[in-house]
Amino acid sequence: MNILVTGGAGYIGSHICVSLLRKGYSVIVADNLHNSEIKTIHKIEEITNHEVSFYEVDVCDSAALESVFVNNQIDGVIHCAGYKAVGESIEQPVAYYKNNVGSTLTLIEKCIKYNVNQFVFSSSATVYGNNVSPVDETMELLPTTNPYGETKAMSERILKDTAHANPNLSVTLLRYFNPVGAHESGLIGENPKGIPNNLMPYITRVAKGEFEQLQIFGDDYPTKDGTGVRDYIHVMDLAEGHVAALYNKAEGVSIYNLGTGEGTSVLELVNKFSEVNNVDVNYQVVERRDGDLASVYANASKAAKDLNWEAKRSLADMCRDVWTYEQRK
Ligand code: NAD
Ligand code: UDP
Repeated sequence: MNILVTGGAGYIGSHICVSLLRKGYSVIVADNLHNSEIKTIHKIEEITNHEVSFYEVDVCDSAALESVFVNNQIDGVIHCAGYKAVGESIEQPVAYYKNNVGSTLTLIEKCIKYNVNQFVFSSSATVYGNNVSPVDETMELLPTTNPYGETKAMSERILKDTAHANPNLSVTLLRYFNPVGAHESGLIGENPKGIPNNLMPYITRVAKGEFEQLQIFGDDYPTKDGTGVRDYIHVMDLAEGHVAALYNKAEGVSIYNLGTGEGTSVLELVNKFSEVNNVDVNYQVVERRDGDLASVYANASKAAKDLNWEAKRSLADMCRDVWTYEQRK
């Protein structure tokens, strides 16, 4: 089976490639390297001892993407390519709608033209808006307060409508919670350019001494210790969830939360990171961040039941593997 992974040189896509190659799939990657480097493809090959067929293309570029479909017999696609910074999406909405919605449209069009009937999409828990956690797949989607979130909700709608119109098509929407961690080898991981927006990359920068202090955005939420609660999931568990989704060739549209079902507070994550890696993480509590929700975590039972998939790795594994990657990179 040949699987096309768009955005396969990126953080999540690269770990998906490793999981696929380990399970005997052949992998084709289409990535324009907007937020990634070619050396990640070489690291995937080093970890797995298998080759990746790499195409440096923009998924929005219809002609360039077509050549990938013409030159390969593709059995399924996993669509990870996209921009992902919430704050940037507020400043540059057009770029976000164009890239994230545009890439989904171009890719699904090629899938129909070339009779590729399995489509797995990287969606996000952000589409639940302020539904009360634990959130589950039956809940109605609510506004997300930022263009990034809206591009995910729109892509989901486009894929649902397309699946209804094309009964052979199997679409799986995977709603990720908070992916962290790295492959245990420390060869691939998350490497954001500039100042990180997300908590875990910020913690690692502070632990390395690159930033003086972590700012904790609020300690007056109605949560266990007042800091924000999220469902952190090891990126290798997340990657394995995609392989499980490919096994499940249900017709029509299937939606799954990929999370652990456990909520962890900012302070709990900071303390766990310090304890596991034996490093200090200085922090200061500041004002809440605009648009943040107090608590977001998954009801993860549907994926367990239908896909026979559950997150296996602990918070300690996430903290250890991210630190191994930081030391090696
Ligand atoms: P990433 O930026 O590391 O990876 C995305 C990859 O897509 C990059 O390699 C980038 O170069 C590529 N890309 C972007 N636009 C492209 C285009 N038009 N054509 C070809 N390649 C393009 O991000 P990530 O964290 O690996 O996220 C992967 C997907 O998962 C994204 O769609 C993101 O929205 C989604 N997601 C991520 C998170 C998270 O916390 N990381 C959470 C929920 C959903
Ligand atoms: N957070 C924080 N300081 C930071 C980055 C994040 O206190 O520098 C908090 C944030 O308020 C939230 C949690 O950490 O409660 C996770 O934030 P992240 O941006 O990683 O994920 P998201 O909020 O998008 O789920």
